[in-house]
Amino acid sequence: MSKRDYYEILGVNKDASQKEIKSAYRKLAKKYHPDLNPDNKEAEKKFKEASEAYEILSDSEKRKRYDQFGHDGVDPQGFGGQGFGGQGFGGFEDIFGDIFGDIFGGGFSSRARRNGPKRGSDIKVRLNVKFEEAAFGTEKEVSIKRTENCTKCNGTGAKPGTKKTTCSKCSGTGEVKYAQNTPFGQFVNVKTCDACNGTGEQIEEPCTKCSGTGKEKRTKKINVKIPAGVDTGSVIPLRGEGEPGEKGGPRGDLYFYINVLPHKIFQREGNDVICEFPITFVQATLGDEVEVPTLDGKVKYKIPEGTQTGTVFRLKNKGIPSVRGYGRGDQYVKVVIDVPTGLDEKQKDILRKFAKETGETVHEQKKGFFDKVKEAFGS
Ligand SMILES: [Zn+2]
Ligand SMILES: [Zn+2]
Repeated sequence: MSKRDYYEILGVNKDASQKEIKSAYRKLAKKYHPDLNPDNKEAEKKFKEASEAYEILSDSEKRKRYDQFGHDGVDPQGFGGQGFGGQGFGGFEDIFGDIFGDIFGGGFSSRARRNGPKRGSDIKVRLNVKFEEAAFGTEKEVSIKRTENCTKCNGTGAKPGTKKTTCSKCSGTGEVKYAQNTPFGQFVNVKTCDACNGTGEQIEEPCTKCSGTGKEKRTKKINVKIPAGVDTGSVIPLRGEGEPGEKGGPRGDLYFYINVLPHKIFQREGNDVICEFPITFVQATLGDEVEVPTLDGKVKYKIPEGTQTGTVFRLKNKGIPSVRGYGRGDQYVKVVIDVPTGLDEKQKDILRKFAKETGETVHEQKKGFFDKVKEAFGS
């Protein structure tokens, strides 16, 4: 199915501000909202389309991915099927709550929020990986804290051995209806029953471990595969491993935000590896065969005679593998000449002879400049 461009749907430019996007969406939502267009399939379709576009473009991260990769780069929530059609508006109403709250004076958002299954929220975790792990990929076991069913009551919230009864206030429906007048006409609004919090059931005696919520935070170990080539800022999604949904809604997602730790000698630029390599001035002058460290181990390289400090040479395909699975970056090695220090008199004599041979006059500074200044002016 080919999809229309999100910017086109909202009728905004590619560089539209968040304010422009919100206002464009608000206009379309007012026009096409299903509550204002009962049994109008075309309006419903337009409303869904605009809502999806807004969901993506109002989220700076999703928008960036969409700009980069188009529809393939983003995965709108709540539009897959179950969210919209039957059970009300599913999981994404949080995103739209403020807008619909504006339009419908709170009526819409409360209805959507409190009815039907609600998708759980996402969990975002920062994951530190070593330079080499990012380069070649790895598998890690990560402990995360998330909400699970209470082990004592199995998620019922009732103290084991006690019963649950139907809520008397809402007769088990979990909601209370009331009418509200708005500029768009009268709406019958549905509020969550406050006696049972929308569950439709009342607990005789709450579970002592979870105070009747049926939930508890637990540490869970999750295996995550880190593909070769990830970099700081890469995101690894694990669908359905986030916080649990409500009323039968699905779990949210778990996102690992990769942070690549610095390496002692290597730096990274995209898929290329950069490093400095010290050589002596004798090696630089006469040339030498050296062993350069790479991610794959040491590699022999011939330093040519007369190499200047700062010279950069390239080791092809010794960089980071592309995260897309093909190709590899290069390694760039910058030669830095180590000036020898602490030479003894014999060694210095050789250099003096060398200087004389090349016609160079050297005024040796036996003491540092500042020492001399001190000496000259006393202290
Ligand atoms: Zn419990
Ligand atoms: Zn109730």
